[in-house]
Amino acid sequence: MKFKLSILGSSGAMPFKDRYPTAQVLNVHEQLFLLDSGEGTQMRMSKFRVKRGKINHIFITHLHGDHIFGLPGLLTSFGMNYRTEALHIYSPPGLQQMIDGLFPDADKGPPFEIHYHELDTNAQELVFENKILTVHSIPLYHGIPCNGYLFQEKKLSRKMIREKIEEYSIPFPDIPSIKDGADWTDIDGNIIPNDELTTPAAEPRSYAFCTDTAYNENLIPIIEGVDLLYHEATFLHEDLDKAIKTNHTTALQAATLAKKAKVGKLIIGHYSARYEELDAHLAEARKVFPDTYLAYDGAVFEIAH
Ligand SMILES: [Zn+2]
Ligand SMILES: [Zn+2]
Repeated sequence: MKFKLSILGSSGAMPFKDRYPTAQVLNVHEQLFLLDSGEGTQMRMSKFRVKRGKINHIFITHLHGDHIFGLPGLLTSFGMNYRTEALHIYSPPGLQQMIDGLFPDADKGPPFEIHYHELDTNAQELVFENKILTVHSIPLYHGIPCNGYLFQEKKLSRKMIREKIEEYSIPFPDIPSIKDGADWTDIDGNIIPNDELTTPAAEPRSYAFCTDTAYNENLIPIIEGVDLLYHEATFLHEDLDKAIKTNHTTALQAATLAKKAKVGKLIIGHYSARYEELDAHLAEARKVFPDTYLAYDGAVFEIAH
């Protein structure tokens, strides 16, 4: 059961050399979720072999161009590929108006349903839920309406011990309830306790996507203990004045937040084009939070069981 994050674009504001603007794909049990869609998202999907047809839900943090300019092209390609499934797009208010403006003639718009879900960026809301996960919004602090997203896998089933199925000739229809924790009764009425038939479920996994934002400790209780945190680190701390002015964060601040929130791993990204090399970002963050990794286009972060 996969829980895998692929970075499609790691740049902030402008594309720079081999860094495209923000876009990520989270694969949870082979369901693909697109997070932001900066310019060139489709090129990155094609390069990193992401099956765009499997994307039914797109989560947008805010309406700055470096997070949405890949969207019109993607919608057009979905249409050209004869997409029929409805598409759900979650974002702060205003996105539908922008997209509709690009396709003013209804006949020329994407030939499938698009459901726009406008979020209250001041609240932490449950924005999506299915059998395998929940997604909550995370209020961010960027000078315009902006929210991140918290993906949490639901409790997994216990694992059947294969040999026990054979040993007791357990019929297939009985297995789901055993995986849910029930004991099993054989035809002679003997009760076989669940812990003889199963091993405990693996821990549910979680991912918090926090871009773009000023440093704000209000995030700590929301992201506390997540396995994987992506937090923007647009600037080095020596450029703190620029971070404050533009409602962004420094590598040192991102690491401080990761440490205070006791997350598993920190990924930093959304780098300003003023930095050609990123070694200093990594070194600065690792001094505070050693389990920090650089996002780069094509990077993959997987939480395996
Ligand atoms: Zn940005
Ligand atoms: Zn922004």
